[in-house]
Amino acid sequence: MSTELTECPHCKTNLKSGLFSSVTLLDNNKVKIINEFIESPFDTYCTKCGNELYSKYSKILMEEKQNLTQEFYNLIYSIPVISIHTPYNWEYEILEMVTGQSTTGTGVLSEFTSSFTDLFGVQSKRYNQKLKFGENMCLAQLRKQTLDLGGNAVIGTDIDYSEVGGQKGMLMVCMGGTAINITNIEVLGKDRADNIAKIKELNKRIDELNEYDLNDENETVIIISHK
Ligand SMILES: [Zn+2]
Repeated sequence: MSTELTECPHCKTNLKSGLFSSVTLLDNNKVKIINEFIESPFDTYCTKCGNELYSKYSKILMEEKQNLTQEFYNLIYSIPVISIHTPYNWEYEILEMVTGQSTTGTGVLSEFTSSFTDLFGVQSKRYNQKLKFGENMCLAQLRKQTLDLGGNAVIGTDIDYSEVGGQKGMLMVCMGGTAINITNIEVLGKDRADNIAKIKELNKRIDELNEYDLNDENETVIIISHK
């Protein structure tokens, strides 16, 4: 960005710095966000025209990111994660090992041991929900890493549970497997193959959007569904 500019290239307002009224150029990050979405981009914008543009387009960026991320998690189960090592009929190249870890909240183990015989009771259900949540987190991590490696499935997956945090009774779930890229993807069926193609696009776009630094980013709540 040139410091010799005397007026805003976008709205032609004169740049000035004063105690009560100053018009300066926007920082690069804001300019990048505006230019991602605006129809005809300019090299830079001033605080007079740019702040409004920034708040408009950063909101659009945040919404897009949120929607795509939700869509991503809705489709992520399409990436097969299996325990066998050489699936029948799959042709694939081996990529790399992928891992996932998740720690549940406290008190899980004490709840479990006190209700060991109560397989259908409320305590047991809560325990299983927490465990399932931990497993789903790990699976999501394996799948995300696989996508980042350019893969579309995980084979030879192992799962481990271990107690951490001593008296607090926390439980850690660990998973590990080998990311592969199935080259005859149609072996999974058309719907699944289509979903995987879609999720690959989503992953790429979300990564692009994550490059932008939103300083007022809200926590997004994502529901990881599992089918
Ligand atoms: Zn301007």
